[in-house]
Amino acid sequence: MAIGTKLIAGNWKMNGLREDGAALARGLAQRAIAAQGGMPACELLVCPPASLLAIMGGLLAGTGIALGGQDCHAAPKGAHTGDISPEMLADAGCSHVILGHSERRHGHGESDAVVREKILGAWRAGLVAILCVGETQSQRQAGRATDIVSAQLAGSVPNGATSDNLVVAYEPVWAIGTGLTATLEDIAAMHTTVRTSIPAGTRILYGGSVNPQNAAAILGLAEVNGALVGGASLDADSFWTIARCCG
Ligand code: PEP
Repeated sequence: MAIGTKLIAGNWKMNGLREDGAALARGLAQRAIAAQGGMPACELLVCPPASLLAIMGGLLAGTGIALGGQDCHAAPKGAHTGDISPEMLADAGCSHVILGHSERRHGHGESDAVVREKILGAWRAGLVAILCVGETQSQRQAGRATDIVSAQLAGSVPNGATSDNLVVAYEPVWAIGTGLTATLEDIAAMHTTVRTSIPAGTRILYGGSVNPQNAAAILGLAEVNGALVGGASLDADSFWTIARCCG
């Protein structure tokens, strides 16, 4: 993957019934088809709930918009009620999977070691792992943001990481879904720190309340190789506007 090409990834989280998902997919597909020759200068990825992967795969086929999962189990199959395996995501048409999102770390108690195993599972299935890291507000206030993020990277990036199989998303926990964003200076500084711990050329996305109003400034930072977008990815216009900020 070329680091020069930014990646804009939409994380729909646990939102969308078939009708909503189809409407959003059609909205994106229409924009992609209408934009022929004038597509945003980035790669686009949407990560809907698992229940929508099949319908989304069909609707986005031929648009150049890739499909990803929001989480997976580390194992290829077995007695893991309620889980989905990396192989199942790949079989459903996914090229990427988000792992270690703060809503998994904090809501489901996922440790760095668990995230690391999941990344290995994703690679086994041929998926690109989008590893999320980020500090809480109290950790930032205590001056520990850099140490926390560095420790998350050390604990969760397995040997064998390359710029082709890994993307890192820096997502300050306090900025996710809150309307708060890190300052441009803090984003640039943290991305510079992250870069010292990962293979050369690996893309580093910023995530945390990215929206059409702030996207141009954030994506304009040389240290930022794309965005992981939650709330604003649920609206085709907003997501497309953010993507167009890539140039
Ligand atoms: C996310 O879900 O990763 C995220 C960054 O959400 P939001 O854009 O809504 O803050």
